[in-house]
Amino acid sequence: MTIKLLSVASELYPLIKTGGLADVAGALPGALATQDVAVRTLLPGYPAVIAKLGKAKTVKRYPALFGVSATLLAAQIDGLDLLVLDAPDFFARTGGPYGDDAGNEWPDNWRRFAALSWVGADIAAGGLKGWTPDVVHAHDWQAAMTAAYMRFGPAHAVPSVVTIHNLAFQGRFDADIFVALDLPQQAWGVDGVEYYGGVGFLKAGLVSADAMTTVSPTYAEEIRSPVHGMGLDGLINGRGDRLHGILNGIDTGMWNPADDTCIARRYSARAIAGRSANRRALENRFGLDHDDAPLFIIISRLTWQKGMDLMIEAVDHLVGQGAKLALLGSGDRPMEGAFLGAADRHRGRIGVRIGYDEALSHLMQAGGDAILIPSRFEPCGLTQLYALRYGCVPVVARVGGLADTVIDANEAALGAGAATGIMFAPADPLALHGAIGRTVRLHRDRALWQGMQRAGMRTDVSWDHSAARYAALYRALLVQAA
Ligand code: ADP
Repeated sequence: MTIKLLSVASELYPLIKTGGLADVAGALPGALATQDVAVRTLLPGYPAVIAKLGKAKTVKRYPALFGVSATLLAAQIDGLDLLVLDAPDFFARTGGPYGDDAGNEWPDNWRRFAALSWVGADIAAGGLKGWTPDVVHAHDWQAAMTAAYMRFGPAHAVPSVVTIHNLAFQGRFDADIFVALDLPQQAWGVDGVEYYGGVGFLKAGLVSADAMTTVSPTYAEEIRSPVHGMGLDGLINGRGDRLHGILNGIDTGMWNPADDTCIARRYSARAIAGRSANRRALENRFGLDHDDAPLFIIISRLTWQKGMDLMIEAVDHLVGQGAKLALLGSGDRPMEGAFLGAADRHRGRIGVRIGYDEALSHLMQAGGDAILIPSRFEPCGLTQLYALRYGCVPVVARVGGLADTVIDANEAALGAGAATGIMFAPADPLALHGAIGRTVRLHRDRALWQGMQRAGMRTDVSWDHSAARYAALYRALLVQAA
């Protein structure tokens, strides 16, 4: 039986993206189609989404959705079956999906994403003529309330899944918004939306969902501890039998060095020498010297989570080791300034682009020798998966999905030809310095280095295995619900 799945997400590649969530929400429907799961995705009608919709059909009107007028539009884009919540008062704003251009969060985010979730639950309850999902899958705090609205409303029998892409973002708000959430009084309390005296959207979703998933097996273990559980470890442990760690995959069609229009020369594991033209193009783009020194890249949000403060400390050491660095990222303003300062200090050795540039990120993966990912925590991480696929060796902290996807170049792994990267722990300056030094030394042995690149390129980073796991989970929930 084909499962009809409603996916609810606040971003989706290629329409709107701030991070890995968009990649996952955009790639999973295609992967699930091979598992006999037909996905429709509900997402907000931000200007970027509405602009790309083209011919859309109005399938439902909500004259007073949390006080605003909204319509639900249906459209197909790039093989994705979309339901777009067009609520201009909530979503037609310049800036990002969650805040303005200066980085200030919208003060009514709780209302915007409660509305999205409420509509998700309405669809689950049969509110849309002609299509009712068998299972609902909500992503992160912005969509998690879907599970709560389902549980406390008419769709309570429809199985729901909430996926944690990053526990650091929980959607916490003051208690006084509760009255405006359109939930029954019984939804208040520790078994409902109440969270440390306020309202917690992710918490409400996790406590309501039939299954919780997160995006790697190691992160699934880590979030059971107070260090990584960020206040939710008690709840997660209490419902531990419902928690599944399912690794993210990547869209191997979109990320394919043999067929990538964003890079200077296409190549494959067999014709890996083709990378050198991309390396040269990358050096040109970042104003870096042309030499054989190892070229590190970073493609990242510039935040504490990503260990970018550690990286700022480490850049002089990296240059001192003879290496070069090309960095693409944006985020924390002082960090942006610090990296720009480092590029000024080390002209020809460090190049920095502040901003977001999808095409450039492909060229960097194709031309860089190694990607640095010193995250303090990393639910899954996608950039190391793109790197493996492109023969760019990942240098990663041993946390979360990074630990699950990279094989460290220790003697045993090197001997077996299995090593795909360099792993270090803990995420601190000393260990990061050590990892940079180790990478520089390994890079000197060309045969060994190419062996690592090829092993990385052989790694299965597709969605195949994980899509099957999600499909199995949906089917198990349907059996339980029957
Ligand atoms: P997170 O979602 O925590 O930011 P992930 O590694 O899961 O981290 O996903 C990040 C995604 O965003 C990847 O697809 C990465 O290539 C992309 N990305 C991050 N920063 C930039 C940037 N400045 N320009 C282009 N792509 C970026």
